[in-house]
Amino acid sequence: MNRPPEDILLEINGLRTYFFTEEGVVKAIESIDLVVYKSETLGLVGESGSGKSVTALSILGIVPDPPGKILQGEVIFHGQDLRKLSDSDMRKIRGNQIAMIFQDPMTSLNPVFTVGDQISEAIMLHQKVTKKEAREKSIKIMSLVGIPSADERVDNYPFEFSGGMRQRVMIAMALSCNPELLIADEPSTSLDVTIQAQILELLKATSEEFDMSIILITHDMGVIAEMCDRVAVMYAGYICESGDIMIIFKSPYHPYTRGLLGAIPRPDAEREDLTIIRGAIPNLINPPSACRFHPRCDYWMEGLCESVLPEVLEIESGHKVRCHIYSDAGKAWMQKHGEAREIGKIPKSAVGK
Ligand code: SF4
Repeated sequence: MNRPPEDILLEINGLRTYFFTEEGVVKAIESIDLVVYKSETLGLVGESGSGKSVTALSILGIVPDPPGKILQGEVIFHGQDLRKLSDSDMRKIRGNQIAMIFQDPMTSLNPVFTVGDQISEAIMLHQKVTKKEAREKSIKIMSLVGIPSADERVDNYPFEFSGGMRQRVMIAMALSCNPELLIADEPSTSLDVTIQAQILELLKATSEEFDMSIILITHDMGVIAEMCDRVAVMYAGYICESGDIMIIFKSPYHPYTRGLLGAIPRPDAEREDLTIIRGAIPNLINPPSACRFHPRCDYWMEGLCESVLPEVLEIESGHKVRCHIYSDAGKAWMQKHGEAREIGKIPKSAVGK
């Protein structure tokens, strides 16, 4: 369901980000419109290469340039377009009001500084505190994220922590300035299953405690089901479907969403109940025309889907889909060809989520 406009924390309109490489122009994000409400967890889901991480980097204005470039669009946060801010104003927002955690904490932590120094540095960058106060805050936040003996471990180096504990350090660093929005890019993917569950549980608890919104990037629909209030499904640089978690899981409208849901393994599902989305995510230097999903889609309407980009349609309040099955052009195609393109039953493996 749509919430009132005053509940919007972040709004992305018409975002387009390309990478100009020697091989050609990678059209990573073609057109993204997205809203994040206050205190919600929004899942951004899709296969690797769908543009989820580039969306996150674009929000924060840290797309590596060159070769990357944000070509158009707005990223509105608290009523101001982040794209129009100077580098120094943007630095005040990054890590302070909007923080990010990455999949592999080892690439984000500096191996030659203690974790305490690194968390303290993040605190001192944005808050007027002494070194001693920053250290005390670091210990407090490390305890809060479940690092035992934080007053001793504050002086340890990243290599002295396990993978799960390092991710807790990253979360501590991200939370240290009490951000309003946390972007978590596959925060548990590199961890084993039990630690994954702990990290996700920690994110859930801290989002409630800090009254913080989260954009959770993942390729795992199971994680989305556990964690999110709403979900946006991305495919090859577009959002193909978005809405409340319950609606999307019970009534997926887009063939790609349907495929992702059908691929969730469940203990009671037979192997043949699982859906396979044939083919692979396209090369975005030369992506398929119009609907980029058409070469993989079982519902492809030849002559239409590969020639006309479907518009985003709001099927019901807050539930949006980009697919010709629901467009007037699609309905005209079905009538002309005498072929129905009904989205059938919900995949068995997704029922009950
Ligand atoms: Fe499939 Fe056509 Fe819908 Fe694209 S627009 S998802 S090809 S039915």
